[in-house]
Amino acid sequence: MAILVQKFGGTSVADAEKIRRAARRVIKAAENGYSVVVVASARGKQTDQLVADALELNPNPPKREMDQLLSTGEQQTVSLFAMALDAMGRQAISFTGGQIRMMTDSVHTKARIRSIDAERIHNQLDQGKIVIVAGFQGIDEFENITTLGRGGSDTTAVAIAAALGAKECEIYTDVDGIYTSDPRIYKKAVKMDQISYDEMLEMASLGAGVMHPRAVEFGKKYDVKIHVRSSSDETIGTIITHEVPQMEGVVVSGATIQKDMAKIGLVGVDNVPGNAAKIFAHLAKAKVVVNDIIQTEISSEKANLSFMIEISDLDAARKAVAEIRNEVNFTDVFIREDIAEVSVIGVGMRTHYGVAEKMFGALAEAKVNIDSITTSEIRISCAVDEDQAEKALEAVCNVFELDRPAKQRGS
Ligand code: ASP
Ligand code: MG
Repeated sequence: MAILVQKFGGTSVADAEKIRRAARRVIKAAENGYSVVVVASARGKQTDQLVADALELNPNPPKREMDQLLSTGEQQTVSLFAMALDAMGRQAISFTGGQIRMMTDSVHTKARIRSIDAERIHNQLDQGKIVIVAGFQGIDEFENITTLGRGGSDTTAVAIAAALGAKECEIYTDVDGIYTSDPRIYKKAVKMDQISYDEMLEMASLGAGVMHPRAVEFGKKYDVKIHVRSSSDETIGTIITHEVPQMEGVVVSGATIQKDMAKIGLVGVDNVPGNAAKIFAHLAKAKVVVNDIIQTEISSEKANLSFMIEISDLDAARKAVAEIRNEVNFTDVFIREDIAEVSVIGVGMRTHYGVAEKMFGALAEAKVNIDSITTSEIRISCAVDEDQAEKALEAVCNVFELDRPAKQRGS
């Protein structure tokens, strides 16, 4: 029997009625002949509440204990879900991450999955049961509970789909798919029918927020089609899949805005071998995720180096910079917290010219100053003042016609 993984996010299981609705959807898939594995998140704002509870007792809680605590949110959902299915006359069994040997590394609060024991799930499916797995959590080799980072249930779902050889993983959420841009900011954004893994990865890591980036990586690596769709109706959402030729016809698929960022610049770094290695070794040791590194030589003796980080890593980064000072000679540090990044993404950029010009032109017309520019093969990002970021996004979306479906765009 074909296996289908259905993941329900926090809003889709927020209360008893919503759990029932999700359960009915699962039963329908089972009636259509699928062996169904459900992955569920903590209900509603439960995880936020648990974080708040922790911070009330300790402003800097030990990460291991944080994982121990946060994993309970998902554990509640899966058992309730199994009870709901049972009440509807269906056999179901729930598992924590540990119970299905969802093995991770030991990096608490941001653990990465290493392996999953699919056998226990297969056994239960073979007995005709619906299996419900707690998202977001695993265990390390010492049986400590770990979590995969906020939003990590998506990753659990796609990883399980990969481990079970499921062809598709449905992600049920409170939006009906992936939009060309953030509809809360760009009101005219439209739903995409499909998007490639690579584009989605750029969007996800740039804060599009709908999908956990690691989930998309798993999908790409293990060939799992991901269907992001609404839990409140039957409409087809957005399919995340491998790139198909027609995707190249679209110049820009989406635009993003990322606000919770900071930029760190090291000014006048000695221009000698090994300095960049030392700098980034310290940042890595402090577990700071670094993006958009720009280094430019300003004379034969000196270089400037800057990079972007998430604001939540700023304290760690500041400490790392203080340590770097002991090893690397530079004149000044320059930290900006009032910065945001606006990006356009599209695999079509590989084959179209003039995309950068069009983006910069739109920003110029909107009188937005560009602080720095970085690009990848399928992305152009501009750092701008945070208070101009929304205006910048709007301008960019308009110029690339992200207010209409790809097929209806002019260029
Ligand atoms: N409950 C976790 C969170 O709120 C994981 C998830 O929802 O994916 O981040
Ligand atoms: Mg989520």
